[in-house]
Amino acid sequence: MIGRLLDPATGARINGMSELLITNGRVVTWVGGEEILENGALLVRDGRIAAIGESNTLASAYPDVASLDAGGQLVMPGNICAHTHFYGAFARGMAIPGPAMKDFPDILERLWWRLDRALTEEDVRYSALVCLVDAIKHGTTTLIDHHASPNAIEGSLAVIARAVESAGVRAALCYEVTDRNGAEGAQAGIDENVRFLQAVKEQDGSLLAGTFGLHASLSLSEETLADCVAAAKGLDTGFHIHVAEHEVDEYDSLNKYGRRTIDHLALAGILGPKSIVAHAVHVDAVEKNMLRDTSTWVTHQPRSNMNNAVGAADIEGMLRLGIPVCLGNDGFSNNMWAEWKSVYLMHKAAHLDPRRVNGMDVVKMAIDNNSALAGMFWPQLPQGKLTIGGAADVIFVDYHPTTPLSSGNLPWHIIFGFESSMVTTTIVAGQMLMRDRELLTLNEAEITAKSRELAAGVWQRFDELSRD
Ligand SMILES: [Zn+2]
Repeated sequence: MIGRLLDPATGARINGMSELLITNGRVVTWVGGEEILENGALLVRDGRIAAIGESNTLASAYPDVASLDAGGQLVMPGNICAHTHFYGAFARGMAIPGPAMKDFPDILERLWWRLDRALTEEDVRYSALVCLVDAIKHGTTTLIDHHASPNAIEGSLAVIARAVESAGVRAALCYEVTDRNGAEGAQAGIDENVRFLQAVKEQDGSLLAGTFGLHASLSLSEETLADCVAAAKGLDTGFHIHVAEHEVDEYDSLNKYGRRTIDHLALAGILGPKSIVAHAVHVDAVEKNMLRDTSTWVTHQPRSNMNNAVGAADIEGMLRLGIPVCLGNDGFSNNMWAEWKSVYLMHKAAHLDPRRVNGMDVVKMAIDNNSALAGMFWPQLPQGKLTIGGAADVIFVDYHPTTPLSSGNLPWHIIFGFESSMVTTTIVAGQMLMRDRELLTLNEAEITAKSRELAAGVWQRFDELSRD
């Protein structure tokens, strides 16, 4: 079973209060027209935003509510990450034996498919905790994770779920089913998704959600895909899968089935309004139409795509078609503004055209579409924008611009002016997770020390796997 929300020992249930008045902020709502409220205030009640208004007005309307002075900082909704991998944290600084990896298939085989095999359940826990510390410090409050640990599959999502609850952020979890660990491994992955989806259904907590994870078409047989579709029946879920991150996914599908990847996944029943396709770098025009017609979500991960040299997805074309393209980080740091900057720069460089992907395109993905994606997982709890009745997932950003700031130029302030270190306070569901840069739910020193010790073991097993 998944643990209950926030152990009192963690100190998370802030001050035992159900109400909090945040005053004296430059409130950024991201809701059209009135995006920035000068000298603004938010009333938080029972984990949701109960009022938004001018500081003095709300302070006199709610004189008895404990208040928190934002000191003129920007008060913004927490960031959402549409696609990440908590399991990848121990890859940082790890040496890969042999010549430099030459392409994405090489990177998969020599890095990720060895690293995930080296993980124990304890590694899974600490790899997640490392990412959760990072998320709170960077003001990322909702994360859509995609997990793999072939030698510790059973119960791995519950382990991550407990880490998420102890951190106090929100996360939608899944286990990536694949055939690369044999029929037993595939079945264990299917079982883990089903077990977690059922557990999430039974609990009323609002921090966790689930979906059904699939690695990619190239590592899944038709039979396994059919098994996944059958297992997902009745669980009210879509799928979360990597698609056409590299051309090899398309050629694999063409060679095996005589059809392109999206055609193949559509036929298998994988696409739809609850399904997430990560990357879609090499999909063709017909595949894009199929993504739109099935209302499937697409996530874009610019830092990862640049790092793996897989190409630049046609995100502007997909947005124009009406495909909800979201922004993720693929396991890079949970500083989502680094993804803002990367997507803004990457497509200009890729197309030799400074007009590509403007600031408002970034807002469409990172704010509008990520908010809508979170809404798919938490339909009763609007996130990613500050609205009355929406989640009280709020961050303070210590940004005092040297040029005028307005709703019209805010995206460019974020892209050219924001630094991740400017996040000082992170609140989720009305609970304070970080205040004035002090973490309140997670013990960073303990997590850092323990993860460094565990990572050394993972690296050793990784080296052994590399020699096989
Ligand atoms: Zn990924």
